[in-house]
Amino acid sequence: MNKKYLLAFSSLALAFSSSINAKEQWLHCGQLLDVNSGKIVKDQWLQIQDNTIGAIVSSAPKKTDNLISLKDKTCLPGLMDMHVHLDGEMNPKAYIEEFILNPADLAYRAHEYAQRTLNAGFTTVRNPGDSYNVTISLRNAINQGWVQGPRIFSAGKAIGTTGGHADPTNGYNAQLVGDPGPKQGVVNSVEDAKKAVRQRYKDGADFIKITATGGVLSLAKSGQNPQFTKQEVQAVIDTAQDYGMHVAAHAHGKEGMLRAVNAGITTIEHGTYMDKEVMQAMKKMGTYYVPTILAGKFVAEKSKIDGYFPEIVRPKAAAVGPQIQKTFEQAYQAGVKIAFGTDSGVSAHGDNGKEFAYMVEVGMPALEAIQSATLTPAKILDIDHQLGSLEVGKLADIIAVDNNPLEDITSLQNVTFVMKDGQIIKQ
Ligand SMILES: [Zn+2]
Repeated sequence: MNKKYLLAFSSLALAFSSSINAKEQWLHCGQLLDVNSGKIVKDQWLQIQDNTIGAIVSSAPKKTDNLISLKDKTCLPGLMDMHVHLDGEMNPKAYIEEFILNPADLAYRAHEYAQRTLNAGFTTVRNPGDSYNVTISLRNAINQGWVQGPRIFSAGKAIGTTGGHADPTNGYNAQLVGDPGPKQGVVNSVEDAKKAVRQRYKDGADFIKITATGGVLSLAKSGQNPQFTKQEVQAVIDTAQDYGMHVAAHAHGKEGMLRAVNAGITTIEHGTYMDKEVMQAMKKMGTYYVPTILAGKFVAEKSKIDGYFPEIVRPKAAAVGPQIQKTFEQAYQAGVKIAFGTDSGVSAHGDNGKEFAYMVEVGMPALEAIQSATLTPAKILDIDHQLGSLEVGKLADIIAVDNNPLEDITSLQNVTFVMKDGQIIKQ
């Protein structure tokens, strides 16, 4: 290519990119939910400049060639789910799939599940634990624009102890087990704990997930025994802090929860057998509770089906499942801070919005349920200056539903408009 053509080509490219840069759109929201005040405001026009909310005005703009009408809908900020596992979905074959699926198989599934999650109105998710760091690569691919999906905050592989909930070899044929260590997310000492956290930093994780107690779906007897010593939990949290990462703890039983809370954990996931003492400790320490009621309902239902779960899992699923919603009700009444999370990947991806109705059913006002999926997660993820509410200068993550969600919380199960980063995903 000669110099003249090259010059012409590059100035064309420049003109093209500057027309993209100048991209301006308008949204007309018939109603808009201000999640800060809890007020529904009628007829608002939002100017979207590139990926940012440039202005919010209460009269129609003069120039309307790029106007999207949502005049029959209620607009609200993109939703955030603090607990999804995008690289899989529970099914009766899930346990055997661990032996027959390769990392690339999981990656393709993760992409599809991410798309379903985004279409359901969840523009940001936290992924506390995956296999092969699939959701770290997916996060990068989404951020670089290769594929579509929600903004992902990934823990990479969760950290557990030998035989614990996050030991990836539980229940395996003894010939296949090996002895996973800190690199694979299995720790048995303070030194191991530090190394496992640093490995995740090296892997590109955004935060750390530990399995502080037994779990429902692992091939092990107890769903609630403590599985980290106090010193190990403390080492995880202190090391994570050095790298600017917060720590989330999967926990069902009381003792494991107390150890995690007192060591300064940021979020408790599931929290099934939390009692008054744990709730008091969480309030004192400022710990958030991520309930995942939807996962509880799902596993309780499936435990009734013969052969759906391995026999060692079935009684745990039957017992833990129905308890979570009751625990949530008590924790909310006690004043524990709540952050929205579903554990989707246990239940189907894209069904995340069902969690809202379960929260409201036992006494949480609809507005607070919505705040737990917008303002609160933005705070936990330290992105509240950019996301979590519809305000001038924040990123244009905007969804719309057909009814007022303060009056009909189930409308969040059917999100009819999705914009992420100023890009229309669903209309
Ligand atoms: Zn989980």
